[in-house]
Parts: sequence; C-alpha cells; structure tokens
Amino acid sequence: MAAQCALETEPTTAFTRDSHPLERGRIPCVSDKLIAVDAPADIPVEHRDTPIGHLFEYHNLGRALVAVEHPELLIGMCMDNRKTLLMPENFAFKLRTSGANMRHNEFRVAYAIAVGGVRHMALIAHTNCGMVGLTHKMNAFTRGMVDAAGWDETQAREYFFQYAPFFEIEDEVEFVKLEAQRLRTRYPKVSITPLLYKIEDNRLYLVREDLTNS
Ligand SMILES: [Zn+2]
Repeated sequence: MAAQCALETEPTTAFTRDSHPLERGRIPCVSDKLIAVDAPADIPVEHRDTPIGHLFEYHNLGRALVAVEHPELLIGMCMDNRKTLLMPENFAFKLRTSGANMRHNEFRVAYAIAVGGVRHMALIAHTNCGMVGLTHKMNAFTRGMVDAAGWDETQAREYFFQYAPFFEIEDEVEFVKLEAQRLRTRYPKVSITPLLYKIEDNRLYLVREDLTNS
C-alpha cells in the first residue's frame, strides 16, 4: 500500500485544505477503491468535524478517548471477532451483524435514528469477511452444526441452503457501498458513509464513492 501511494503524483482537492505544516507536501494514500486516513489533513473536507471525522480521529489518529455526553453515530459492522474500534464511551450505537448487512436490522437502525437521535451512520465492512464466498462453506457449516450444535445433517444442510443466500457477499467493499446507497434511500435525512476495516493493519479506510449523483 505504501509503495502504491508513493507513486501518486496529484493529491485530490479534497485533501489540500488546512494542511498542518508538517504534512505539507505529503501525498495522501489513495487507491481507486479506498482513501486512507493517516493524518488530520487526509480526512476529506465533507467529513471534517463530523461524527465520521471524529471516528477517524479516535481510531486512526490517536485522539484522546474522553467520554462524550450523547451518541453521535450509529455504527453498523460485521460480527467478526477480529475488529475493535477505538472510540470513547457513549460515542456510538453499534449494530453488529454478519457482513454489516443491515437488511434484518431495520427496526434497530430506525430506533437509533428516531429515538437515539443519531444523524450519521458508518457502515463498516472488513477484509477477509467470512460472508464472502459463503456458499462454498456449506460442508464446514453442516459438519459444525452436527458436531457442535447437535443437529441432524439434513436439517443443517437445508438450513444453510435456506439462509446462506441472504448473507452471502461477493465483495466486501462493493457490498458496503451498495448497502449505504440502499440505506440512503430509506433514510434520506441521515448521512451514511461506507468504510472498510482492514484486518491486516486494524485501521479504518473510507470507501471511495462516485459522488457525481450527489
Ligand atoms: Zn465479516
């Protein structure tokens, strides 16, 4: 990643404002799918001083974790055990589901907005998600349910076939982009931002979107 970024020659205008003197001249790490946030100036202007910007400051940039009074953010992320977000007490509501798929959590999303008062949502995919290529894991699932849960093999197999299609993901980043778009149409007054958590470095990345329709 670092080597790729070193080859970038033109920073996008979103990163050129208010650079700290020490950061002037540095080139933000940008790929065609992701935007890395390794310094305050890397946070795109539209996310600065917003709950999304604050999340990057806490998790990626080492901002002090001082408890906040009211939750600012709703976080939808995968139930995977390898991810821990650095944020202060009370900063966010968190919904953890397989693959950050919110389709079966609509009421909880609505509740966090309507009663919890959040106006920003981070939808966080992660690398190496178990929901990618799920249908290839039928044998492991069936074996596990027989051995660990005491199910009958046929019952386990049928259960897998019934539910796996609802949860399978082809590509983590593409999925979370589409899920963010879907949620925007459902909650048009809420700001919804797709992110990626890289298991490899435990850092958050912005998912690059084509914003020409905004
Ligand atoms: Zn996952």
